Amino acid sequence: MNEVYDTYIAGPMAGHDKLNIHKFRAVQNYLRDRHAISSLIPHDIPPHKHLRRCPENFRKNPASDHAECCYARGDLVYMLRDCAAVVVLPGWNASVGTRLELMVAAQCGLPSMFVPRGSMAEILYTNHHQHQPILSIPDEMWYAINDARYQTAQKET
Ligand SMILES: [Zn+2]
Repeated sequence: MNEVYDTYIAGPMAGHDKLNIHKFRAVQNYLRDRHAISSLIPHDIPPHKHLRRCPENFRKNPASDHAECCYARGDLVYMLRDCAAVVVLPGWNASVGTRLELMVAAQCGLPSMFVPRGSMAEILYTNHHQHQPILSIPDEMWYAINDARYQTAQKET
């Protein structure tokens, strides 16, 4: 069985240092520490597996043997199959991939929430065990998360 997560974190990657992983990881850690929400980030998702060449005419991912479309495909599969909701990092509006993920999530009924740009510094540099929550999780996101947790628990018993 696949591991299931409360949220998928979507955000800009291309053109950022180390594909922006420090911001994804910081929000992932914040959600875990402060809200007990588990998150999947695209950096931890393997590319779509195929036997022969990557699809032609797609941009190659500079850090791997796969084209970017192989990663995009893997990300969407994991987001829809294994995650209950979507958390969106600042800069999403300038990222084609993030806009697409957001549209797919909305079309498929996954609730989403935006991390305001102003809260990123606090998320990056605060000890989350000692402070008030920085983000407030919308009710519809908790409904989706709790529903998925309940279904997972049913499957496991
Ligand atoms: Zn490939």
